[in-house]
Amino acid sequence: MKPVIAIVGRPNVGKSTLFNRLTRSRDAIVADFSGLTRDRHYGNGRLGDREFICIDTGGFEPIAKTGILAEMAKQTKQAVVEADIVVFLVDGRLGLAPQDRVIADFLRKTSRPIILAVNKAEGMSANVVASDFFELGLGEPIAISSAHGDGVRAMLDEALDALKIPEPDDEVQEKDRSTRIAVVGRPNVGKSTLINTLLGEERVIAFDMPGTTRDAIEIPFVRGNKPYTLIDTAGLRKRGKIFEAIEKFSVVKTLQAIADCNVVILMLDAQQDISEQDAHIAGFIVEAGRALVVAINKWDGLDAHQKETCRNDIARKLRFLDFANVHTISAIKGFGLKELFKDVDLAFGAAMVKMPTPKLTRIMMDAVEYQQPKRVGRFRPKLRYAHQGGSNPPIVIIHGNGLEGVTDSYKRYLEGRYREEFKLRGTPLRIEFRSSK
Ligand code: GDP
Ligand code: GDP
Repeated sequence: MKPVIAIVGRPNVGKSTLFNRLTRSRDAIVADFSGLTRDRHYGNGRLGDREFICIDTGGFEPIAKTGILAEMAKQTKQAVVEADIVVFLVDGRLGLAPQDRVIADFLRKTSRPIILAVNKAEGMSANVVASDFFELGLGEPIAISSAHGDGVRAMLDEALDALKIPEPDDEVQEKDRSTRIAVVGRPNVGKSTLINTLLGEERVIAFDMPGTTRDAIEIPFVRGNKPYTLIDTAGLRKRGKIFEAIEKFSVVKTLQAIADCNVVILMLDAQQDISEQDAHIAGFIVEAGRALVVAINKWDGLDAHQKETCRNDIARKLRFLDFANVHTISAIKGFGLKELFKDVDLAFGAAMVKMPTPKLTRIMMDAVEYQQPKRVGRFRPKLRYAHQGGSNPPIVIIHGNGLEGVTDSYKRYLEGRYREEFKLRGTPLRIEFRSSK
């Protein structure tokens, strides 16, 4: 599982600036879900080949002055619950502020590793900047500049090193040949209902209860003689025969499950408009490269006009999911599930496709013969051969010369050719270019 890093600190110290640098994301999930404070941002971060989830505890509502401390405490608390490690950001230009002490008092009492980062330190002597903050009693302050990047990498290395991330257990991975499915979607789309309907129909194999509420539960089951593992995002616990949600919607769990699965079932609510949250979650699925099947739930009881409105809404707002099949289902009544699972299998197969080098190269050659890439100046990009660089998502690596000059539209043309030849539905397909000098 990806480690979760939360950035906390009083307003204006540079939390969002740091968040943007760590995630480089245009696509943060903004949690305005009920039960969470507005303005929390969640994004995928990467440092070298280490990946993590980043939370920006975000802005504060401009409420009465007395409210700010309480609000800050609440934000900080929430971050600590969700995170594996906390980056506490302070402002090196303004020096130690009373609000910093309040946050530090709280952080000292938690069991999470804390990294104290002194921001806005560009052009200043690191020692001088840091000396102000020793008295917070949170260890050695690290001077950084979120805006310019100084020290950020070293700070992050320290943060990630503070966690003992277990090496992935190859043997376990080998044994587990089930298709891993994450059912994701915003609150109330019907995730728990779907899971209960599914598991009511199928044989559930015994599963382990997690140690803490932050651990996702995994539910292995068999359907049509095929093994699947369901990765829960709804915070389900077994109560008698059925699963009940004991937690509110969790963005972190959603991101973890997307990272951890082979195929995502993205649930949408036919009786509600497609929201920005839906689009953000969809964006993360594409970014993670996961195979995808879209399930429009609550299709029961819609009239013809509502059905059409709903389909149009999805086609317009989620156009970037056009690689995935869309199903209409009713989790309550149990209809549409058979077709849904057929597509889960199809998407999984596509995500795991084996693409032999000669075939990849031949398709590329044929595509080039039919339509050449445009010249850049006097040179035309020269595509030489292609090979497969990965699965789930499948990656095609094309080698040649001057490939920096290949346009996005030509790349999409190649992608289309590969999709057609390998009949790839339900998975993103990545094409990467490697130029030799
Ligand atoms: P937040 O309220 O903690 O999220 O803070 P912001 O990220 O919105 O930043 C507050 C202000 O500090 C903005 O004007 C930023 O441009 C500025 N800022 C952020 N990081 C740096 C930095 O490393 N150096 C300097 N000089 N200014 C910074
Ligand atoms: P979750 O928050 O995504 O886990 O959503 P739940 O499974 O708790 O469902 C939220 C609400 O939607 C509940 O009141 C369900 O009874 C209702 N619901 C779920 N599936 C369906 C469905 O297929 N049709 C209709 N009409 N309502 C549904």
